[in-house]
Amino acid sequence: MSGESGPLPRPGILDIEAYVGGESKAPGAARIIRLASNENALGPSPKAIAAYEAASRDIHRYPDGGSNALREALGKHHGLDPARIVCGTGSDELISLLAQAYAGPGDEVLYSRHGFLMYEIVARAAGATPVPAPEKNLTTDVDALLERVSPRTRIVFLANPNNPTGTYITAEEVRRLHAGLPRRILLVLDAAYAEFVARNDYEPGIALVDAAPNVVMLRTFSKIYALGGLRLGWAYCPPAGADVLNRVRGAFNVNAAAQAAGVAALADVAFVDRARTHNDIWLPWFSAELRNLGLTVNPSVGNFVIVRFPDAPERNADAAYAYLQGRGILTRKMRGYGLPEWLRITIGTEEEMRLVVAAIAEFLSPS
Ligand SMILES: *Cc1c(COP(=O)(O)O)cnc(C)c1O
Repeated sequence: MSGESGPLPRPGILDIEAYVGGESKAPGAARIIRLASNENALGPSPKAIAAYEAASRDIHRYPDGGSNALREALGKHHGLDPARIVCGTGSDELISLLAQAYAGPGDEVLYSRHGFLMYEIVARAAGATPVPAPEKNLTTDVDALLERVSPRTRIVFLANPNNPTGTYITAEEVRRLHAGLPRRILLVLDAAYAEFVARNDYEPGIALVDAAPNVVMLRTFSKIYALGGLRLGWAYCPPAGADVLNRVRGAFNVNAAAQAAGVAALADVAFVDRARTHNDIWLPWFSAELRNLGLTVNPSVGNFVIVRFPDAPERNADAAYAYLQGRGILTRKMRGYGLPEWLRITIGTEEEMRLVVAAIAEFLSPS
């Protein structure tokens, strides 16, 4: 061993707090209820599983590097030009590629204070400066974002609905945000939970992408389509944005089984309807039950809620997390999002939701 240190990464890389995913283990618990990662309660479409299994026979072949069949299917399904769709290894990959392509040292990447953690991570990884804007009522504040735009701002990331808060801003507010941004700034609309939202004043962002040269919409197969394990997402872009992503992405970034499963999942419209209906029933039910227990539940339009626990150490979010984990119920701590008093809980099956409510009632009951 010499006294020399090894190679150092670029400035900023060692400032990154590595992303920690939802817990998937509960040592000692007979049964595990996973509500930590906003996965679909109903599991994947059987048609997607069949397509994945069929693809297993051809894994000696390289995938179609252009994800052509999948882009065609997405284009048909959503009424979009497939040439402006770029598929990725989860929308996480696309978030990262956009940051690397459009921001670098000296640049700023803007997002909402309690927005998705990846935005800060990819900004730092690109060598750029992450700039969080404060929120109002745990909701994106368009004015606060616009106030923080500077000559160095290159990208604004907006998760709408947002994870972890579950709140959304209206299409009109998104348009107001866009109207206040110079055209040199890229607005990334991350609509990972769009399929769960049934509000007249919500839009995932397709119309804005069509109308402007500086807007990209991101979507994922990880949430309502329940294919998180396959890593599959897509971007709908202006032509120049699609060209940029196609230059920087891996030549074979999306594996063949994921492409096949994605095509099958898209075609299974009845499955997505069932998942949406399930959420429409159990999201309000779960929220109301927790409020009946005296907890604050932030209004959510996603397949998850954040729940505020009391401040007393034996009743707070950390204590609740540990209590639930001891019963095999895995939720998500929110300290990394600046919300240490809260836990995020995904909407699971009916049985899971009833078990969680019973466990939280027990946790809160005076003993
Ligand atoms: C889950 C999630 C994603 C990531 O999805 P992948 O396609 O699995 O990478 C992106 N954005 C938000 C806001 C999410 O909650």
